[in-house]
Amino acid sequence: MSDVTIPPSDSLAVLEKQRSTAETFGIPLAVLLEITHRCPLQCPYCSNPVELDRSGKELTTDEWKKVLSELAEIGVLQVHFSGGEPTARKDLVELVKHASDAGLYTNLITSAVLLTREKLSDLADAGLCHVQISFQGIEEGLADRVAGYKGGHRKKLDVAKWTRELDLPLTVNAVMHRQNLHQLPEVIQMALDLDADRLEVANVQYYGWALKNRAALMPTVAQLEECTAIVEEARERLKGRLTIDYVVPDYYALRPKKCMGGWGRQFFNISPAGKVLPCHAAESITGLDFESVRSNHSIAWIWQNSEAFNRYRGTGWMKEPCRTCEFREIDFGGCRCQAFALTGDAANTDPACALSPLHETIFKQAEAEAEGETSRFVYRNFAGGTLESENGT
Ligand code: SF4
Ligand code: SF4
Repeated sequence: MSDVTIPPSDSLAVLEKQRSTAETFGIPLAVLLEITHRCPLQCPYCSNPVELDRSGKELTTDEWKKVLSELAEIGVLQVHFSGGEPTARKDLVELVKHASDAGLYTNLITSAVLLTREKLSDLADAGLCHVQISFQGIEEGLADRVAGYKGGHRKKLDVAKWTRELDLPLTVNAVMHRQNLHQLPEVIQMALDLDADRLEVANVQYYGWALKNRAALMPTVAQLEECTAIVEEARERLKGRLTIDYVVPDYYALRPKKCMGGWGRQFFNISPAGKVLPCHAAESITGLDFESVRSNHSIAWIWQNSEAFNRYRGTGWMKEPCRTCEFREIDFGGCRCQAFALTGDAANTDPACALSPLHETIFKQAEAEAEGETSRFVYRNFAGGTLESENGT
């Protein structure tokens, strides 16, 4: 931002002021493609924006193919087909084939419930390289309730089995929160039984739908400590058999995560309607205009030059306490979306940081919610959310 003075010691910010960002930031190696927001599940922590893109706004098959070719040309090596639920698009096999022919490594991030064995086999034949399946628990009672979809858990187990039968590598993604953390040891065992290479133990991050559901999802401090100990023990025991990625919820950290590796530094995603975004929640920040692949600009131009990508790049935009903090080039002030959601200004320090003036208030509020009685979910849907009924249906 032009009104921010850059401290002389801030070499990266100086570089960014003096040179074009094209010289400073290379094209990311992997890109997330949210090809649709449609999804039969209704997870209360869904990372999609609360304002979902309707199917009429989605890029067409030809538009996605053009995007894929362009990504391969500018040096992207890997694409994640995600959503919503990517298999809700009838052209997924065609898109995977196009990506594969363009030389891209392809990963499918799926809830799995719409897949048949035949469809999965068609995707493998089209060149699909990897499958990631999300699980909501280890048994259908709780898992189907969290997903708001009956019969989903059983279907996921089938698809995971087919994935390995087709010799595709499998990642199990388990989103954990107060209502399912007690199942963590069994989740780890389930990943082993399914012959997964990787397990992501992803504690919910609280923006968008998850922020709406924070009181029903926030774990207690004791739960989180136990969870960390379980993961550490399992990592040691399963070395060489199962890789476990572990994401701690921000609220219990003293320093924020380096969100997306820093805004506009290592990552972008493309929304169903073709917006090129610095992170999947970025559209929650009002007042920022994101360029579309439907514009006259190339994707490389949008990445390097667009106002939205440059607004929070580097450190030159920061206010205190980040601006003079020794960690500013390590965590880049945390998450812009969380700063906006919790403070109303995306340029503020992420309140996950203990140095944020709001940290203590927000942490205490979350702690109180974690000990509270709220357990009903607001399910994610195109209507802006539906409160779970009192008997959990
Ligand atoms: S988090 Fe749940 S509701 Fe959201 S896209 Fe994934 S499976 Fe669908
Ligand atoms: S003040 Fe800013 S830069 Fe320093 S640790 Fe907190 S978020 Fe990171």
